[in-house]
Amino acid sequence: MASENQITKAMFDSEIRLYLAKSESLELIERAYQYSEEKHNHQKRNSGEPYFIHPLNVAYTLATLRVGPKTLCAGLLHDCIEDCGITINDLENDFDQEIATLVEAVSKIKNLKFDDEKEYLASNHRKIFIAMAKDIRVILIKLVDRLHNMRTLEYQEPEKRIKTATETLEVYAPIAHRLGISEIKNELEDLSFFYLERDKYDEIKHLVEKKKSERQESNNRMISEISELLQEQKIQFKIFGRSKHFYSIYRKMTQKGKRFEEILDLQAIRILTKTELSCYEILGYIHAKYTVIPGRLKDYIAMPKVNMYQSLHTTIIGEDGEVYEIQIRTEEMDAIAEQGVAAHWRYKEGRRYNAAKEQKEIEERLSWFKDMSLMTEDIDDDAKEFMGVLKRDLFEANIYVMTPKGRVIDLPNGATPIDFAYRIHTDVGHKTSGAIVNGTMVPLNTALKTGDIVQIKTNNNSVGPSEDWLKIVKSSHARNKIRSFFQKKEMERKSEYVPKGEQLLKEELAKHKLDEATYFDKEKLEKIYSNFSLTNYQDLMYALATKSLSAQAVVEKLYNKKNIFAISRIFNPAKKVKTKNSKSAIKVAGIASMKSMLANCCNPVYGDEIVGYITKGAGVKVHRNDCPNIIKEKQRLIAVYWDDLADEKQRYETRIIVYSSDRSYLLSDLVNVVSQCQAGLVEVNSKVNDDSLTAITTMTVTVENSEHLRNVLANLRKVNSVTEVARLAS
Ligand code: MN
Repeated sequence: MASENQITKAMFDSEIRLYLAKSESLELIERAYQYSEEKHNHQKRNSGEPYFIHPLNVAYTLATLRVGPKTLCAGLLHDCIEDCGITINDLENDFDQEIATLVEAVSKIKNLKFDDEKEYLASNHRKIFIAMAKDIRVILIKLVDRLHNMRTLEYQEPEKRIKTATETLEVYAPIAHRLGISEIKNELEDLSFFYLERDKYDEIKHLVEKKKSERQESNNRMISEISELLQEQKIQFKIFGRSKHFYSIYRKMTQKGKRFEEILDLQAIRILTKTELSCYEILGYIHAKYTVIPGRLKDYIAMPKVNMYQSLHTTIIGEDGEVYEIQIRTEEMDAIAEQGVAAHWRYKEGRRYNAAKEQKEIEERLSWFKDMSLMTEDIDDDAKEFMGVLKRDLFEANIYVMTPKGRVIDLPNGATPIDFAYRIHTDVGHKTSGAIVNGTMVPLNTALKTGDIVQIKTNNNSVGPSEDWLKIVKSSHARNKIRSFFQKKEMERKSEYVPKGEQLLKEELAKHKLDEATYFDKEKLEKIYSNFSLTNYQDLMYALATKSLSAQAVVEKLYNKKNIFAISRIFNPAKKVKTKNSKSAIKVAGIASMKSMLANCCNPVYGDEIVGYITKGAGVKVHRNDCPNIIKEKQRLIAVYWDDLADEKQRYETRIIVYSSDRSYLLSDLVNVVSQCQAGLVEVNSKVNDDSLTAITTMTVTVENSEHLRNVLANLRKVNSVTEVARLAS
């Protein structure tokens, strides 16, 4: 696979002279050439060739992309820092700051270590790459550097070949694609394909060559037919055949499940012309002469692809019955199709290069295309994928920082050295005592930036993280680790209360003359803690020990008989409860002595708006005005009133429903509120939904009147994690 034609100085010189003429530029490049050749003098490549071959090849390819003189110099010098003991300062003194910065950025990317984190996604690598490079020129140098390394990959160890080829396919080729540099993208893909899937590569290569020789004659005939047609019309054009590269055929076969024979655009005939208008003219003449396959005309001139690709595509049937794909575009469009952003921002002498301005233009241009494609209905998959990647990469707020050894750590925007420390290791996080960023000691709440080199100082005597860190950290990873540290500490604290809780429970059992051996059963206790919205045995004992849960309630659960001790007395032991079954405080309109009862469904309490329902033989049932059971009733309703002189001690039973998220001590908190409000508690029932982590609690309470009830409801609403409190309608 290695490129046979060796690049020589003469070839390089003549290539740069195709677009550079200023003597100061040529002198600068010559100086970088001599400098690099001398510094790499003693090094050899794995192939045995002088090392300098490599930077020379890189610079030569950069020249074919028409980059500026400084980028060419950086290409020639790109491996100096790493391999020849040259420093950034040396380059700054020997050349200038711009060249030194470019070389530094290229070297920095080289030091990124992607391989030690298997779970790392290729898309992350691309992001890191883009974020680190910042400057389009650095990306170009890196792509071209990789291209030459891939061309000479055969001299590497087999293991290294696989690693490099995988990285090229997953990181470098997509970046080249994104920037529209399909020349480089295609070659990178085919080289990776060759090393990663040798059998498939050979198979497709064989099929393509067979097809090519089968089609050679008909293709040539078609090319000369079209040439004649266009010559008659006096249109300037260039025409030639173009094969799809192997990897894109393979991808189409595997991703779209197509057979080799089904791929129509294996070989395309490409026509280049001068103007956009000529493109449409040529299309018109071709369509007038040949049968067109419907649905395959693509106008990427009017609707450019997001990576700036422009061309007309059509598929026709020749007079020989064969299918031909035709691509028509201007020479400028062709250059952009092959070289993408590199073509668009080609170096022109006399124009001052402004890195920031150019970078901004590139981003604007790319996002402008993104908006364009959003407006069209017809976005092909490629464009969609491209858009997604672009959006993620350019707009996602992530930063990439490094360990002193070059391992990349990605963190959310605004992340601090603490976030970094927890990503290194939980123990490092817990013991963090200070941070050094780019060689300088910084406060722990410093916001890190992409490219920062971060070193964490730890203190082995540290007792753990500070609770203030929760306010500083930006990553959920660090936050969770800090939280669980404190949770664990809390658990340890609670465990000290277990003996006390156990003792209280045993005392309570003794009080009711219940046998400890039977009832103090850990297995049973393990089963009942969820009844109190607790999550484990320890929490249960802690709740008992701190009196947030009464031992009596637990004993009752253990004894497993409802109301055995009349639950309400547990909370309001002094109050004797009178409920609706005692004498009614209702007056029925017009009928002094009418027998009345409070309805069971809506459980009205004194002060509620009420209405009577005349039953057959059981007097008047009193419902709340809004009770769904009587809302449709028209005939048998009768007005009823609360008796102002009613017994003040009378209590009314009603049901409440509480919606909340699930948490420890929820139930005991709710019960405490009812108790503090001087309401009686008859029954509590709680259901936890494990999927949504929510709880629905129904409580039957006794209250004096509607105002008292409102007070209970209002206080329940204040309980932490409660989302809604309501009376049960029926
Ligand atoms: Mn290199």
